[in-house]
Amino acid sequence: MIICKFGGTSVQDAEAMERVASIVKQRLKDKPVVVASAMGKTTNDLLAAARVASEGNLQEALEQLGKLKDKVLNEVKKLGMATVNHEVSETVTANFKEMSNLVKGLSVLGELTPRSLDAMASYGERLSTLVLAQCFNDRGIPAELMDARQCIITDDNFTRAVPLFDLTDAAICKHLLPVLKGGKVPVFQGFIGSTRNGITSTIGRGGSDYSAAIVGAALDANDIQIWTDVDGIMTTDPRMVPEARRVKVISFDEAAELAYFGARVLHPATILPAVRKQIPVHVLNSYKPDQEGTLITGEAPSCGNPVKSIAYKKGITVVNVASTRMLMAHGFLKRIFEIFDSHKVSVDVVSTSEVSVSLTLDNDVSKLWDIVTELKKIGEVQVEGGKAIVCCVGDNLRNIPGVSHLVFSAVRDVNVCMISQGASAINITFVIDEDRLPQAVRGLHDVFFQKPDPRIFE
Ligand code: ASP
Ligand code: MG
Repeated sequence: MIICKFGGTSVQDAEAMERVASIVKQRLKDKPVVVASAMGKTTNDLLAAARVASEGNLQEALEQLGKLKDKVLNEVKKLGMATVNHEVSETVTANFKEMSNLVKGLSVLGELTPRSLDAMASYGERLSTLVLAQCFNDRGIPAELMDARQCIITDDNFTRAVPLFDLTDAAICKHLLPVLKGGKVPVFQGFIGSTRNGITSTIGRGGSDYSAAIVGAALDANDIQIWTDVDGIMTTDPRMVPEARRVKVISFDEAAELAYFGARVLHPATILPAVRKQIPVHVLNSYKPDQEGTLITGEAPSCGNPVKSIAYKKGITVVNVASTRMLMAHGFLKRIFEIFDSHKVSVDVVSTSEVSVSLTLDNDVSKLWDIVTELKKIGEVQVEGGKAIVCCVGDNLRNIPGVSHLVFSAVRDVNVCMISQGASAINITFVIDEDRLPQAVRGLHDVFFQKPDPRIFE
């Protein structure tokens, strides 16, 4: 049994869904379970409509929903389903009716709770899977639409709900195994679940990969296939370095580091349930289904190159805090981190000297100035925006001497303002000015991928 997860771009319209149907058809003998995201950017649109309504612009929200409904029905029609008197289109219409009622409620209340955001967002995946399941059946794939809300049981931390694994694993087996036994393809919503009391929840933006891994782990899948619109994990962003190569095999740990530092291919949390069960994860391109993609495995395969991939993250702000005493007082670091923690803001890179600490945050942290005000009580604070993080990842970084020399000679003309060698010893991370990013990434790629090991790189 395998899991085939299709992301938003892979189900964005009728054409994309046709591609998905043919991918699934070719894999029927592997007994696929299909997990799908919302079509294209639907989740953003739904959340925007909810926000607009809660701010008092009901008319605008209803218009946005109307547009979205037309778009969905248009794709439904292109797939050959009638737009009236057809179970799917009637359900689409009924769902939009419910959403209209929901936004009306939000506009009356003039508030927007995490719980109502989840109620709204859930329609994205419910609609995409409704259409996809019918598309499968119409194309000779026996499929059954599932309700993820009966299977992914979460706490009530709405918008970032945490699955309760005992309940979830049991519910997945209970609902999906009979469908698989009956020779059908279960079609399952990513991203959504419900609390023990049956209130709809979601497990965090981009969470469909996580859903796929949870289902795969619960069912002991042989393989988890994450179908996206890219070729897999690359040696770096091909938009920045056109010669970037595909990485054929990479370890879970390496992939997690990359995901954390901005490679937008995989959600890092995806990795956990699959790792625990040692289930391989394949990242594949739904536009080029015959390509082998990237395999993510538990153990790092041996590789002749020290670095497997270079990730980066733009839009970074560096905050420096200098202790006003000469040396860092006892408890200084703890107090700094408590401030970030109390604002629920996560810090990506940290480096310390004897008298100061530097940390990186995303530029758009809305509470930056509140945080700075508090930090000023314990030291001198300096804030520098317009930075970028560059992160070189590779399991061999721990064994090969002189790698940092290679890294920093590749960027010798770029001013490096923070350096951190990851605690895991498989990454070297540093911070530079954002406008020097292309130069730095290209320089690193030239140095590390002159002779790519053919076992690992395409
Ligand atoms: N549709 C959800 C989102 O846009 C989940 C996902 O795509 O993975 O965040
Ligand atoms: Mg998505």
